[in-house]
Amino acid sequence: MATIREVDVDALVDEVITEVIALQRDIHQHPEIGFDTVRTAALAAEAMRSAGIDVREGIGKTGVVGDIEVPGATRRIALRADMDALPMDEDSNLPHKSSIPGAAHMCGHDAHTAMLTGAARALASVRDRLPCSVRFIFQPNEEAIPGGATAMIADGCLEGVDRIFGMHVWPVFDTGHIGILEGPVMAQPDVFRIVIGGVGGHAAAPHVVIDPIVCAAQVVSAAQSIVSRNIDPQEACVLSFTQFHGGTADNVISEKVELRGTIRSFVQEVGATACQRLEEIATSVAKGHGCTAEVEFTEGYPVTFNDPEACAEARRTISAVTPITDEAFPVLGGEDFAYYGQVIPAAFLFLGNRDASKGIVHYCHHPRFQVDDAAMPIGVRSWVALALGAAETA
Ligand SMILES: [Zn+2]
Ligand SMILES: [Zn+2]
Repeated sequence: MATIREVDVDALVDEVITEVIALQRDIHQHPEIGFDTVRTAALAAEAMRSAGIDVREGIGKTGVVGDIEVPGATRRIALRADMDALPMDEDSNLPHKSSIPGAAHMCGHDAHTAMLTGAARALASVRDRLPCSVRFIFQPNEEAIPGGATAMIADGCLEGVDRIFGMHVWPVFDTGHIGILEGPVMAQPDVFRIVIGGVGGHAAAPHVVIDPIVCAAQVVSAAQSIVSRNIDPQEACVLSFTQFHGGTADNVISEKVELRGTIRSFVQEVGATACQRLEEIATSVAKGHGCTAEVEFTEGYPVTFNDPEACAEARRTISAVTPITDEAFPVLGGEDFAYYGQVIPAAFLFLGNRDASKGIVHYCHHPRFQVDDAAMPIGVRSWVALALGAAETA
């Protein structure tokens, strides 16, 4: 039994966990994409309101903010969940499988919303024991650039907040643990598009056309040297071509080829170097083939950086209720939680969500990704411990 400020955290979480799991299933079955998280937001708002929490809706377009105000408190911390699903199909036999074709919660944001709603309700019932005010932030559109966080921040969701925490179900290590890492934990995921232009014509007369497919293939090959030859080996960087489009028939040489992909790193300058080299390689290889190359970049979310003091507070409070794993490591995925960390100290936590005995082994965004029911009470306990055990002064 873990007691924090004379509150039995396990008993408190036991009171809400049935409805947390029911809410996760409900949201899972009715996924909403991007900023269209209207039904999901209404469920979170209603659950908080019924527990006496002050709720503001329509923040950051379709986000929700709940506040437990503690009179006389000098601090306010924020806990954040994302609400959006992915534009993909689910491949499962779960009874609560997505009911909407082309939309599915394959990143666990259904669990994030349900766990934070449960934590809010649990904390509201012990509000007289809280050492600081607590804000609950439910944001839309985590999955697609430009993200939902910036719209929430523009609508004032961080006003009066001194520290913010986020949590993601994490298929990298087993259920039962939480991962807390200082420094960069998620990458900046830039994307690129390259259009190679040639001269189309008959496939039987290659000497009178300028073939953009041969050129584009050379661009893909030449770009493989960027990470190995231009980036400091001490730095993590990935450059992946993910799309290669060109041509319409077996006997026609196409006029153009479109290449797309992503460049990711934990240091903005490293990503910038890779982008610059890609542009140089694409344009010079194209020139050598008599082709043209148009190169465009779209900047992704910034690097998600965990503040050491916010991590220390999370580690101190959460370790009372959940073992902290040493199996967590930074990943080159992107996360728009990064934007909150650019405004105030922030920490993004990883909640173990893997159990091979139940077949729960798939990575986020896999069509058979699954939230482990056993992870949800651990997430709620961690949120409750973080708020109840927070320091009274920063
Ligand atoms: Zn995702
Ligand atoms: Zn996610």
